[in-house]
Amino acid sequence: MYISKSKFLKAYQCQKAIWLSKYHPELKSKTTDAQQAIFDQGHEVGNLAKQLLSPGAEMEFNPKDYEGMFSKTKSLIASKEKYIYEATFLFEDLLIMVDILEVKEDGLLIYEVKSSTSSKEVNLYDLSFQNYVLSQLGYKVLENNLITINNEYIKETEEINLKEFFRIENFDSEVESLQGEVLEIISETREILINSQMPDIDIGKHCNKPYECDFKEHCWSQIPETSVFDLTNARAKDFELYSDGILTFKDIQENYLLHHMTEKHRTQILSELYNKKVENKKEIKRFLKQITYPIYFLDFECYQDAIPRWDGLRPYEQTPFQFSLHTLENETSELKHYEFLAEANKDPRREFTENLIEYIGSTGTVLAYNMSFEKGIIKKMAELFSEYKFSLIDINERMVDLMIPFRNYWFYRKEMKGSYSIKYVLPAIAPELSYSDLDVSDGLAAVRTFKDLENLDLLNNIEDTGEKISKLKSSLLEYCKQDTYSMVLIWQYLKELV
Ligand code: SF4
Repeated sequence: MYISKSKFLKAYQCQKAIWLSKYHPELKSKTTDAQQAIFDQGHEVGNLAKQLLSPGAEMEFNPKDYEGMFSKTKSLIASKEKYIYEATFLFEDLLIMVDILEVKEDGLLIYEVKSSTSSKEVNLYDLSFQNYVLSQLGYKVLENNLITINNEYIKETEEINLKEFFRIENFDSEVESLQGEVLEIISETREILINSQMPDIDIGKHCNKPYECDFKEHCWSQIPETSVFDLTNARAKDFELYSDGILTFKDIQENYLLHHMTEKHRTQILSELYNKKVENKKEIKRFLKQITYPIYFLDFECYQDAIPRWDGLRPYEQTPFQFSLHTLENETSELKHYEFLAEANKDPRREFTENLIEYIGSTGTVLAYNMSFEKGIIKKMAELFSEYKFSLIDINERMVDLMIPFRNYWFYRKEMKGSYSIKYVLPAIAPELSYSDLDVSDGLAAVRTFKDLENLDLLNNIEDTGEKISKLKSSLLEYCKQDTYSMVLIWQYLKELV
């Protein structure tokens, strides 16, 4: 088995992970949608970076013939190809593919491309490993560079300005100082890989740092469904308890609970153990008083692209593509529903804004759940479309956050499991309304569905795309509608409670 860049980084995170990947690869968790989305974005950014440093030759990936890839790389270097993408090198059992290699008369320059907006410690180990392999092969490495995204960049032209979009940082001195450690990790990894005995490494913070480990499902399987790791905002309290042998809420001694835990943690634990219910009716009543008719229950869905698609956007800036709005004119009126879903592959922001303004009147309360998100989007739209500035600012000024009673623990039930997100509050208030029956059941899935819809739209008129598109659209509309309907139920519940 080759120790590739990714295996080396796995070993840097945890030697047990590298052992498991050799001896029990079947225990690896499936790639999640969130991870896949990060990989996809990484690919897009990687391809764009090749345009920054071009022209160059692309190595054809062949996992059955790394030797062949290495030979091809060597001949490209010999023929003075300026840039080589995925340049492949083998040294003993070490295998690297350099994202972009620059070939100069007197040596080589390494460029590692990341889709993040800043460098991380793990990236330096990545570069150092590549440098180690090249140096061992006798190449002179002139520079060790990291290409990241410049988060200050604003898209102003049709084409991305590559020189402004990317940031190239040099890490020669860091790479040099890490060489000893790199060699140590390689030696340890070699020893571990020839040993049929699994390394005795317990779970710890390293399971999530720098990445969530692929073997978490396996290593964490002994942790009960509810444990100290479910403590909300644990701030290291969970591992502190775990290292003292305390795994469940039941194991926590009364004295420790009273003197060493926060009020919120105490509430969470006592609710879980004894079904303690918290209802601070005085505060909830005071909160509800500020809500006046007509009431607008509002929720947005947004996507973020590493490479901005529309003018005025920065990398990873939120783009709103959907909203749902339930309205109640007065105490006795019927609940009405309005919605907006953007057209595929078109800048959605103007239409989104105009629809929002059309449906939200000039008086009454706008309720959002975790309103900083909706407020941030509205503020951005106000900057973008000056003609709607005052209407949008007015919406923001009338906005109230329905999350407040739950975030402040004025209302708490064991079903909330320490969370005040709407998906956890709902089972405590309206258990009959579930997200699990929906095709789209969370914000991430909504973004993925909208992207699928956009991809299908590009294939317009091919086979049955029309039918598939309308199915995706209804799943999206249904999901977002449920979010605002849940808010209506939550508000009604609180009203009845006090
Ligand atoms: S889950 Fe944690 S302990 Fe298990 S292999 Fe991964 S990092 Fe190591």
